[in-house]
Amino acid sequence: MKNRIVLLGPPASGKGTQAALLAATFGLPAASTGAMLREEKSRGSAIGTEAERWTTQGGLVPDELALRIVWQWIDGRTRFIFDGFPRTLGQAQAFDDGLQERGLTLDVVYLLELSDETVLNRICTRLTCPGCGSVFNESFHFVTKGSPCPSCGVELTRRKDDTREALDRRLSEYRKETLPVTEHYEARGLLRRIDASPARAVLFQALYDDLCANNPEEALS
Ligand code: ADP
Repeated sequence: MKNRIVLLGPPASGKGTQAALLAATFGLPAASTGAMLREEKSRGSAIGTEAERWTTQGGLVPDELALRIVWQWIDGRTRFIFDGFPRTLGQAQAFDDGLQERGLTLDVVYLLELSDETVLNRICTRLTCPGCGSVFNESFHFVTKGSPCPSCGVELTRRKDDTREALDRRLSEYRKETLPVTEHYEARGLLRRIDASPARAVLFQALYDDLCANNPEEALS
Protein backbone atom coordinates (compact mmCIF):
# COMPACT_ATOMS: atom_id res chain seq x y z
CA MET A 1 0.00 0.00 0.00
CA LYS A 2 1.16 3.52 -0.73
CA ASN A 3 1.37 5.24 2.63
CA ARG A 4 3.03 8.53 1.78
CA ILE A 5 1.10 10.50 -0.78
CA VAL A 6 1.28 14.06 -2.10
CA LEU A 7 -1.53 15.78 -4.03
CA LEU A 8 -0.55 18.74 -6.22
CA GLY A 9 -2.63 20.86 -8.58
CA PRO A 10 -3.90 24.37 -9.23
CA PRO A 11 -6.34 26.10 -6.87
CA ALA A 12 -9.77 24.44 -6.80
CA SER A 13 -8.53 21.26 -8.47
CA GLY A 14 -10.05 19.29 -5.60
CA LYS A 15 -6.91 18.49 -3.60
CA GLY A 16 -8.56 19.04 -0.20
CA THR A 17 -11.71 17.09 -1.06
CA GLN A 18 -9.76 14.15 -2.48
CA ALA A 19 -7.30 14.16 0.43
CA ALA A 20 -10.24 13.89 2.86
CA LEU A 21 -11.82 11.03 0.87
CA LEU A 22 -8.53 9.13 0.62
CA ALA A 23 -7.86 9.71 4.31
CA ALA A 24 -11.27 8.31 5.27
CA THR A 25 -10.95 5.34 2.90
CA PHE A 26 -7.40 4.28 3.71
CA GLY A 27 -7.13 5.57 7.29
CA LEU A 28 -4.28 7.89 6.40
CA PRO A 29 -3.74 11.16 8.28
CA ALA A 30 -4.16 14.11 5.86
CA ALA A 31 -2.71 17.60 6.08
CA SER A 32 -3.17 20.73 3.98
CA THR A 33 -0.63 23.48 4.53
CA GLY A 34 -3.24 26.01 3.30
CA ALA A 35 -5.81 24.79 5.85
CA MET A 36 -3.18 24.67 8.61
CA LEU A 37 -2.22 28.29 7.86
CA ARG A 38 -5.90 29.35 7.96
CA GLU A 39 -6.32 27.56 11.32
CA GLU A 40 -3.22 29.31 12.71
CA LYS A 41 -4.73 32.61 11.58
CA SER A 42 -8.10 31.96 13.20
CA ARG A 43 -6.31 31.02 16.44
CA GLY A 44 -4.44 34.33 16.20
CA SER A 45 -1.03 32.62 16.51
CA ALA A 46 2.24 34.30 15.48
CA ILE A 47 2.58 31.93 12.49
CA GLY A 48 -1.00 32.76 11.41
CA THR A 49 -0.46 36.50 11.62
CA GLU A 50 2.78 36.29 9.68
CA ALA A 51 1.22 34.01 7.03
CA GLU A 52 -1.72 36.32 6.40
CA ARG A 53 0.62 38.97 4.98
CA TRP A 54 1.26 36.60 2.06
CA THR A 55 -1.87 34.48 1.68
CA THR A 56 -4.51 37.24 1.32
CA GLN A 57 -2.78 38.60 -1.80
CA GLY A 58 -2.44 35.11 -3.26
CA GLY A 59 1.34 34.90 -2.75
CA LEU A 60 3.13 31.94 -1.18
CA VAL A 61 4.35 32.04 2.41
CA PRO A 62 8.15 31.70 2.79
CA ASP A 63 9.45 28.12 2.55
CA GLU A 64 10.75 28.28 6.11
CA LEU A 65 7.25 28.94 7.47
CA ALA A 66 5.59 26.20 5.38
CA LEU A 67 8.29 23.71 6.41
CA ARG A 68 7.95 24.67 10.08
CA ILE A 69 4.26 23.72 10.18
CA VAL A 70 4.87 20.57 8.16
CA TRP A 71 7.56 19.16 10.48
CA GLN A 72 5.49 20.15 13.52
CA TRP A 73 2.58 18.14 12.10
CA ILE A 74 4.62 15.12 10.97
CA ASP A 75 6.20 14.74 14.41
CA GLY A 76 6.69 10.97 14.38
CA ARG A 77 4.02 10.12 11.79
CA THR A 78 5.18 7.67 9.13
CA ARG A 79 2.03 7.69 6.92
CA PHE A 80 0.40 10.77 5.43
CA ILE A 81 -1.34 12.57 2.59
CA PHE A 82 -0.20 16.13 1.90
CA ASP A 83 -2.40 18.47 -0.07
CA GLY A 84 -0.76 21.56 -1.53
CA PHE A 85 2.70 20.81 -0.15
CA PRO A 86 5.50 20.90 -1.30
CA ARG A 87 4.75 23.96 -3.41
CA THR A 88 8.22 25.15 -4.35
CA LEU A 89 11.40 23.35 -5.41
CA GLY A 90 13.03 24.50 -2.16
CA GLN A 91 10.23 22.90 -0.12
CA ALA A 92 10.43 19.69 -2.19
CA GLN A 93 14.18 19.36 -1.65
CA ALA A 94 13.93 20.10 2.08
CA PHE A 95 11.03 17.63 2.32
CA ASP A 96 13.00 14.87 0.53
CA ASP A 97 15.98 15.46 2.85
CA GLY A 98 13.87 15.59 6.01
CA LEU A 99 12.04 12.39 5.09
CA GLN A 100 15.33 10.66 4.33
CA GLU A 101 16.67 11.65 7.77
CA ARG A 102 13.58 9.96 9.22
CA GLY A 103 14.14 6.82 7.09
CA LEU A 104 11.08 7.58 4.91
CA THR A 105 10.43 8.17 1.19
CA LEU A 106 7.43 9.40 -0.78
CA ASP A 107 5.41 6.66 -2.50
CA VAL A 108 3.46 8.68 -5.08
CA VAL A 109 2.69 12.26 -6.17
CA TYR A 110 -0.62 12.93 -7.94
CA LEU A 111 -0.91 16.00 -10.13
CA LEU A 112 -4.58 17.00 -10.47
CA GLU A 113 -4.74 18.81 -13.82
CA LEU A 114 -7.37 21.48 -14.55
CA SER A 115 -7.70 24.26 -17.15
CA ASP A 116 -7.48 27.91 -16.03
CA GLU A 117 -11.05 28.45 -17.22
CA THR A 118 -12.44 25.71 -14.98
CA VAL A 119 -10.30 26.93 -12.07
CA LEU A 120 -11.82 30.41 -12.45
CA ASN A 121 -15.39 29.08 -12.63
CA ARG A 122 -14.92 26.93 -9.57
CA ILE A 123 -13.24 29.66 -7.52
CA CYS A 124 -15.95 32.24 -8.26
CA THR A 125 -18.66 29.89 -6.98
CA ARG A 126 -16.73 28.30 -4.09
CA LEU A 127 -17.91 28.73 -0.50
CA THR A 128 -16.14 27.36 2.53
CA CYS A 129 -17.15 26.69 6.11
CA PRO A 130 -14.94 28.43 8.68
CA GLY A 131 -16.25 25.94 11.26
CA CYS A 132 -15.45 22.51 9.82
CA GLY A 133 -13.54 23.40 6.63
CA SER A 134 -16.07 21.78 4.25
CA VAL A 135 -16.14 23.18 0.73
CA PHE A 136 -19.30 23.78 -1.30
CA ASN A 137 -20.15 25.18 -4.72
CA GLU A 138 -22.99 27.62 -5.31
CA SER A 139 -23.71 26.12 -8.72
CA PHE A 140 -24.69 22.69 -7.50
CA HIS A 141 -25.00 22.58 -3.71
CA PHE A 142 -28.01 24.92 -3.25
CA VAL A 143 -26.07 27.19 -0.88
CA THR A 144 -25.13 30.88 -1.03
CA LYS A 145 -22.82 33.08 1.04
CA GLY A 146 -24.22 33.17 4.60
CA SER A 147 -26.16 29.88 4.30
CA PRO A 148 -25.69 27.53 7.26
CA CYS A 149 -23.05 24.87 6.56
CA PRO A 150 -24.91 21.62 5.71
CA SER A 151 -22.35 19.72 7.82
CA CYS A 152 -22.05 21.84 10.99
CA GLY A 153 -24.38 24.86 10.73
CA VAL A 154 -21.72 27.63 10.79
CA GLU A 155 -22.30 30.41 8.17
CA LEU A 156 -20.59 29.73 4.85
CA THR A 157 -18.13 32.36 3.65
CA ARG A 158 -15.89 33.03 0.66
CA ARG A 159 -12.17 32.61 1.32
CA LYS A 160 -10.34 35.94 1.46
CA ASP A 161 -8.05 34.79 -1.36
CA ASP A 162 -10.93 33.59 -3.57
CA THR A 163 -11.01 36.84 -5.54
CA ARG A 164 -10.18 37.41 -9.21
CA GLU A 165 -7.02 39.41 -8.35
CA ALA A 166 -5.68 36.92 -5.81
CA LEU A 167 -6.49 34.05 -8.16
CA ASP A 168 -4.39 35.54 -10.99
CA ARG A 169 -1.49 35.73 -8.56
CA ARG A 170 -2.09 32.19 -7.25
CA LEU A 171 -2.15 30.80 -10.80
CA SER A 172 1.06 32.58 -11.73
CA GLU A 173 2.74 31.38 -8.49
CA TYR A 174 1.53 27.90 -9.34
CA ARG A 175 3.09 28.00 -12.80
CA LYS A 176 6.32 29.59 -11.62
CA GLU A 177 6.90 27.74 -8.33
CA THR A 178 4.87 24.51 -8.33
CA LEU A 179 5.24 23.22 -11.90
CA PRO A 180 9.01 22.77 -11.30
CA VAL A 181 8.07 20.61 -8.29
CA THR A 182 6.05 18.35 -10.59
CA GLU A 183 9.06 18.06 -12.93
CA HIS A 184 11.24 17.18 -9.93
CA TYR A 185 8.93 14.28 -9.01
CA GLU A 186 8.47 13.25 -12.63
CA ALA A 187 12.25 12.87 -12.94
CA ARG A 188 12.15 10.62 -9.87
CA GLY A 189 9.37 8.48 -11.43
CA LEU A 190 6.87 9.37 -8.71
CA LEU A 191 4.45 11.62 -10.63
CA ARG A 192 1.01 10.50 -11.84
CA ARG A 193 -1.16 12.92 -13.86
CA ILE A 194 -4.91 12.79 -13.26
CA ASP A 195 -7.65 14.76 -15.06
CA ALA A 196 -9.32 16.78 -12.29
CA SER A 197 -12.27 18.04 -14.37
CA PRO A 198 -14.78 15.24 -13.67
CA ALA A 199 -17.13 15.19 -10.66
CA ARG A 200 -15.52 14.49 -7.29
CA ALA A 201 -16.72 10.84 -7.12
CA VAL A 202 -15.27 10.11 -10.57
CA LEU A 203 -11.98 11.76 -9.69
CA PHE A 204 -11.86 9.82 -6.44
CA GLN A 205 -12.42 6.56 -8.34
CA ALA A 206 -9.47 7.38 -10.63
CA LEU A 207 -7.20 7.98 -7.62
CA TYR A 208 -8.53 4.94 -5.82
CA ASP A 209 -8.01 2.68 -8.86
CA ASP A 210 -4.49 3.96 -9.31
CA LEU A 211 -3.62 3.46 -5.64
CA CYS A 212 -5.01 -0.07 -5.73
CA ALA A 213 -3.60 -0.95 -9.16
CA ASN A 214 -0.61 -2.79 -7.77
CA ASN A 215 -2.34 -3.84 -4.56
CA PRO A 216 -5.41 -5.87 -5.52
CA GLU A 217 -5.82 -6.97 -1.90
CA GLU A 218 -6.57 -3.35 -1.01
CA ALA A 219 -9.44 -3.00 -3.49
CA LEU A 220 -12.86 -2.79 -1.90
CA SER A 221 -15.31 -5.40 -3.12
P1 ADP B 1 -5.31 26.73 -3.12
O1 ADP B 1 -4.41 25.62 -3.52
O2 ADP B 1 -6.75 26.43 -3.40
O3 ADP B 1 -4.88 28.06 -3.65
P2 ADP B 1 -4.57 26.33 -0.29
O4 ADP B 1 -5.61 26.23 0.74
O5 ADP B 1 -3.79 25.10 -0.61
O6 ADP B 1 -5.28 26.94 -1.56
O7 ADP B 1 -3.52 27.50 0.09
C1 ADP B 1 -3.97 28.81 0.37
C2 ADP B 1 -2.76 29.75 0.48
O8 ADP B 1 -1.91 29.33 1.56
C3 ADP B 1 -1.85 29.77 -0.75
O9 ADP B 1 -2.29 30.67 -1.76
C4 ADP B 1 -0.52 30.24 -0.10
O10 ADP B 1 -0.54 31.62 0.16
C5 ADP B 1 -0.53 29.54 1.24
N1 ADP B 1 0.15 28.22 1.19
C6 ADP B 1 -0.45 27.00 1.33
N2 ADP B 1 0.46 26.02 1.26
C7 ADP B 1 1.66 26.61 1.04
C8 ADP B 1 2.98 26.13 0.86
N3 ADP B 1 3.27 24.82 0.88
N4 ADP B 1 3.97 27.03 0.68
C9 ADP B 1 3.72 28.35 0.64
N5 ADP B 1 2.49 28.88 0.80
C10 ADP B 1 1.46 28.02 1.00
